[in-house]
Amino acid sequence: MKPPNFCNSINCNGNLDKDYCIKGCSHAQWVDILVVNGKKYPFEFNQRFGPVFLRKDGEPKVNQPSEKHPVWAEFEKWLKEVFNDKH
Ligand SMILES: [Zn+2]
Repeated sequence: MKPPNFCNSINCNGNLDKDYCIKGCSHAQWVDILVVNGKKYPFEFNQRFGPVFLRKDGEPKVNQPSEKHPVWAEFEKWLKEVFNDKH
């Protein structure tokens, strides 16, 4: 499993590769970029709130991708890679 990029839980206290943080910590936050048809889709992911796609300036996009957007297929692959199919 891939450790989160950051976590602000005092339980983890910077130990981002601890099982607690990876498997169940609601403060753990992953940051990555998906590429679909050459276009980049930066996003943040939190196990509690799911993915939030971001604008170039790092702020959340006002309009998140619709259900049929091809970025979701890439996101599913990303989830499997990050959580080793155990999500
Ligand atoms: Zn954590």
